[in-house]
Amino acid sequence: MAKKIRPDRIAKGVAKATKSLISGSSKFTKDRLLECQKPCEHLSNGICVLCNCVVKAKSEVFEEYCPANIWKDIKILEKAGLALAIKNPDLATISVNEETNRFTLDYGKYKWKTKDENGKEVDTDTNLKLVVVNDRGNFFTENQDLTEIKLAASCSCTISSKPKKTLKEGDYLEFDIKYEARKAGVFSKKAHFLAKETAFFITLKGEVI
Ligand code: SF4
Repeated sequence: MAKKIRPDRIAKGVAKATKSLISGSSKFTKDRLLECQKPCEHLSNGICVLCNCVVKAKSEVFEEYCPANIWKDIKILEKAGLALAIKNPDLATISVNEETNRFTLDYGKYKWKTKDENGKEVDTDTNLKLVVVNDRGNFFTENQDLTEIKLAASCSCTISSKPKKTLKEGDYLEFDIKYEARKAGVFSKKAHFLAKETAFFITLKGEVI
């Protein structure tokens, strides 16, 4: 897949990669590099042959994604030209289905209640911190910017975002979504991201015990 070179992102990645030689890489960087170095069949001399990027620098930039969808914290939906990343991947896994235009966030099995630092029983934190990255410049020649953005979720889910009605090509939007358990058991809830130019769907699933 031919991939648009984004000098600002690459520069950011090189700067972080250099700094991390001294301070140590972040967790998402290490997890991504582990996938590249398993080794991935597309890795050659430290360069991903699918996007021609140095993976050490690329993996340092949060809004960069693996073109083969191997990295676990971010997935690209080519049909929409959008990637969805999760900033707290310890809470849920993320997967994508091109046919149904859908990302799935799976909490797995978790306890409804936990104890806080004072020993008080509280609801388990289910707040997922997500980022939508507009990479439509890599897939479309027209309608690369997104306008009239709306986010909505079904009952038992809350969704919140910083107000942003337009998402320029190459830019990203952060939002939170969480499932609020009302009873124990298996659940599957829906949310969607709508723009004038495209849309995608989110399924939130898991089992509360
Ligand atoms: S970025 Fe993805 S496709 Fe490229 S080398 Fe790494 S894991 Fe493989």
